[in-house]
Amino acid sequence: MKSTIITERAHDFVEEVENISHSDLNRCWHCFCCSGGCPFSKDMDILPNGVIRMIQFGLKEEVLNCSTIWLCVGCNTCSMECPNAVDMAAIMDALRQMAIKEKVPIAEPGILSFHNQVINSISRYGRTHKLEIMMRYKISGKDFFSDIDLGLKMLSKRKLDLMPSKVKNKKEIQALFKLAGELS
Ligand code: SF4
Ligand code: SF4
Repeated sequence: MKSTIITERAHDFVEEVENISHSDLNRCWHCFCCSGGCPFSKDMDILPNGVIRMIQFGLKEEVLNCSTIWLCVGCNTCSMECPNAVDMAAIMDALRQMAIKEKVPIAEPGILSFHNQVINSISRYGRTHKLEIMMRYKISGKDFFSDIDLGLKMLSKRKLDLMPSKVKNKKEIQALFKLAGELS
């Protein structure tokens, strides 16, 4: 009886992740290529292929609470390395969406705050304005002075633009954000 409940829970979790990520988890044969290629795996609490295994075991709470899903930067290396076309980057994205929707405490809140500043910048200008993103991020975390040396260095080397550059047709960007809001 207990094993039936666990199996059903695992099935539901796998189905939920597959529906959002549009990736087939059963194709994974745990070859480790995704974890081996991930540039951030050494900082993760669960390796990317381990995340798939835990989803298959129905360990939803553990997966949605882990740091890995927030440390993933969506670089797609894992998805390109996978010999079975499992889209790990999309799976990580699906797990982040689920964690936010289900109000799970975010394991790396600073990273979510940074993501939000990037999205806000794109919604304002259609592009990222890095200086403003960094300033807003620092202000939101009340962290005013760390990295200031690096910021000044980047400014002096003209790696940060003072003024934002904007796309010509901002209405198209706003329409995309509106559509995304309606779909979520
Ligand atoms: S590379 Fe693909 S098949 Fe291999 S462990 Fe990762 S997801 Fe599974
Ligand atoms: S998308 Fe995420 S999990 Fe995949 S290689 Fe990049 S950082 Fe690692």
